[in-house]
Amino acid sequence: MNIHEYQAKELFEKFGVPSPKGIVAGTAEEAEAAAKAIGGDDLVIKAQVHAGGRGKGTFKNGFKGGVHFPKTPAEAGELASQMIGQTLVTHQTGEAGRLVNKVMIAESADIERELYLAILMDRGSASPVIVASTEGGMDIEEVAEKTPEKIIRQFVHPLAGLQPYELRKLAAALELAGDQAKQFAKLVKNLFKLFIACDCDMVEINPLVVTPAGDVLALDAKFGFDDNALYRHPEIVEMRDTTEEDPREVEASKFDLNYIGLDGNIACLVNGAGLAMATMDIIKHCGGEPANFLDVGGGATKEQVSAAFKIILSDPNVEGILVNIFGGIMQCDIIAEGILAAAAELELTIPLVVRLEGTNVALGKKLIEESDLAVISADNLNDAAQKIVEAVKTA
Ligand code: ADP
Ligand code: MG
Repeated sequence: MNIHEYQAKELFEKFGVPSPKGIVAGTAEEAEAAAKAIGGDDLVIKAQVHAGGRGKGTFKNGFKGGVHFPKTPAEAGELASQMIGQTLVTHQTGEAGRLVNKVMIAESADIERELYLAILMDRGSASPVIVASTEGGMDIEEVAEKTPEKIIRQFVHPLAGLQPYELRKLAAALELAGDQAKQFAKLVKNLFKLFIACDCDMVEINPLVVTPAGDVLALDAKFGFDDNALYRHPEIVEMRDTTEEDPREVEASKFDLNYIGLDGNIACLVNGAGLAMATMDIIKHCGGEPANFLDVGGGATKEQVSAAFKIILSDPNVEGILVNIFGGIMQCDIIAEGILAAAAELELTIPLVVRLEGTNVALGKKLIEESDLAVISADNLNDAAQKIVEAVKTA
């Protein structure tokens, strides 16, 4: 799960990570009022979407940039009216872009240096890792590719936690000394606390800035939370903005289905993540393109199968469906009944190939073969993949 920058600021405040004051606005009037409330003539207005690269982004209406620096409240309102309700395309959103529903007005900070700071979970070392760079503000992916030596990594022992000497090492590597090093150490210490306390899998501050006055401030924030730990954080779940998520994935999560939309035309409905991966692989191997990853879970119910079909069929790119179920916990005949009921209810018109294996497989296959619906039965994974790729090609 991700949150918006204005929501991240609330977490920053709670954990003592310094960042300029910001107020969210959903209309031009609210933006103007927010600018007045913040006061002064050094303001910034920023589009709130779950994607970075806003500064260099372009709106589909031609308006350039998702980050602007108004000098007056009236100008802030004017800029807000150009952003709200418009679609912002950045290098992270893909061509479709993201609809901007809200903007944030904040104090604009004077910037002397722009640094990069992130905390992530690192699989390889099975520990958190702090990633930092003197080359903040711009495209960090480009820095990593062209000058990888400028990316600093500090692994943190998962039990011992962040140590003072590790903070000093990081500060020195970022060429921070004296009071700035102290401010930086405190900020990173608090950010690390936040990272652990909120079960984040990523926090990224780009840029982390040093002001001419010598203060260290977070000017941007990107958060990712571990979905499996969200049950511990109702206050974070409340920040969820489902309008920023793929509607098919939102629907799937209501039924405890693991769904990820992809670009292909062959939908897969599979039980078990491993089997789902194998199914996608074999579709590709046979010359097809999977339209999704969909794991209905080991004990899939009839309701889940039906919900899964509905989600699959709501995707206009889907031209065929491959069901690949291993009846271990569930019995194949019960699954076959569920598939047939869903196919009949939804008046399926595209090819459907079903491969069943496991408990009561003979019964399950018999049900499918005897039904009036145009369901193609398959004997094994390879056979199933070939049949659906063929059926989609000739359909
Ligand atoms: P994104 O990463 O999505 O492009 P940022 O929040 O990083 O958005 O903003 C882009 C740039 O705008 C930053 O690199 C920084 O130079 C500037 N900026 C952002 N917020 C502020 C602020 N509060 N004060 C001054 N400059 C800012
Ligand atoms: Mg940024």
